[in-house]
Amino acid sequence: HYDTSVHSPGAADDSTGIAAILEAARALQARKDTQRDLIVLFTDAEEIGLEGARIFFEEHALAPTIGFIINLEARGGGGRATMFETGRGDGPTIKAFAPLAWSADGGIDTTSLASFMYERMPNGTDFTIPRNQGAQGINIAFVGRARQYHTAESTPENLDQGSLQHIGSQTLEMASRMMQAQAIPPKGDNRAYADVFGRIVIHLPLWGNWIVLVLSAAGLAFSVWRARAVTRLGPKQILQGALDGVWFISASLILCQGLRLLAVPVETSGQYYILLRRLPWMEASAALAVLALAFILMSGARAQYRRLLGYGLAAITVLVNLVDGVQPVLIGAGTLAAVLSLWPGAASRTQWGGWIGSVILAFALGIALQIMAPQAALIFVWPVLLAVIAMCVTAAISPSLSEMRGLLAPAIATIIGGAWLMGYGHLVFLGIGISLPGALGIIGFLVLLFVRPLVPARDDYWLTILAVVFLLASVAIGAGSRLAEPSKATAMAEKATRLSLQ
Ligand SMILES: [Zn+2]
Repeated sequence: HYDTSVHSPGAADDSTGIAAILEAARALQARKDTQRDLIVLFTDAEEIGLEGARIFFEEHALAPTIGFIINLEARGGGGRATMFETGRGDGPTIKAFAPLAWSADGGIDTTSLASFMYERMPNGTDFTIPRNQGAQGINIAFVGRARQYHTAESTPENLDQGSLQHIGSQTLEMASRMMQAQAIPPKGDNRAYADVFGRIVIHLPLWGNWIVLVLSAAGLAFSVWRARAVTRLGPKQILQGALDGVWFISASLILCQGLRLLAVPVETSGQYYILLRRLPWMEASAALAVLALAFILMSGARAQYRRLLGYGLAAITVLVNLVDGVQPVLIGAGTLAAVLSLWPGAASRTQWGGWIGSVILAFALGIALQIMAPQAALIFVWPVLLAVIAMCVTAAISPSLSEMRGLLAPAIATIIGGAWLMGYGHLVFLGIGISLPGALGIIGFLVLLFVRPLVPARDDYWLTILAVVFLLASVAIGAGSRLAEPSKATAMAEKATRLSLQ
């Protein structure tokens, strides 16, 4: 769309889309990719309610002739361009899009998790209109440098040129494929998919994750059997490990929500845009808080300081619900975190119990997601398989967990799986971190599936000190966002731009 919001030059949203389409159309002609007709549609009035797209797709004579749509968007002025939405029944589309991981500049970022999450959000783009009519296509957007979104700062100078190249290259390569393809991707079955480091796209039919779960179950059974041979691993230790995971996720949710209070401006007008400016600070603050909780879990401090943790988390829960209004999810998470903190003997004190218990919890959550939201299940199911593979190798060659060679497999899994998950953590934060920063805790929990066996199960003074340092840093950075991005100055700058543009 060529319109933008009232007081923004709109270099990113959505002049980037217009520029990328013009250049792609030029390149397609130069490549002589002209086997099919290409319709270039520049819509107007997207920002006030998708009006241009609505009129074209509901009334224009060309609309019924369209086989495939590529839509370009931006929320912010930088970062990688993610393919975050498809038509319904996207299997054939994903098979056609996946090879772009090699042909597009910088590869591609995409996952069925994003398209699942986006479908449940109230926002729409021009693509919403044809999508609801059953059209096939892809929707690509970049969401980094959020401070530029709909502000005076969205200028060509501030725009991340890499984002323009990334979205443009994907547009060109996908259009090129569609122009040459024997057949346009029809509606098919939905698939579960995600890229791995931008250069490979793994995609499965939705039922495929059941096979992954069955393989994981078999690997888990083997590991439990081997671990029992060398340690006194019993159901109690495994349950404690699973409760550790529940504690970690719920404590992350409530702690990060508490830290969010530090960044929320007092004025209500323009609050969303001030929060967008503070988003990088909020992300750093939440990430440090999640790290601190991981160290509290692994250092033994979770058992040692259970009262401090329990009452502290309970106090944060009360505070969050008082200040931000009553939120049942956060009351639940906070209560769970506080009760599990205070419960004597709930904390895991064995390496195998802690590891297997947390993997079993992730496995159970993966099954729940696979039943309720199979497009989103991969975020649990795939890391579980990787953790179980590492676990089987360890259980087979050195089940005592005290030799270096036994820890090699989880160390490699930590590097590969951890890096993959952190990429998704960033994307999830850019998507929902503004309202639920503790979502990073779920990503942190999944990283722990690999890291857990690498830390010996004994009280570690230094890890506890690190946890305190990270916690203090997360508070300082969360509060620092107020100084770095003062809300009064932001509000006044917005007002000044508005006046000058009038
Ligand atoms: Zn837009």
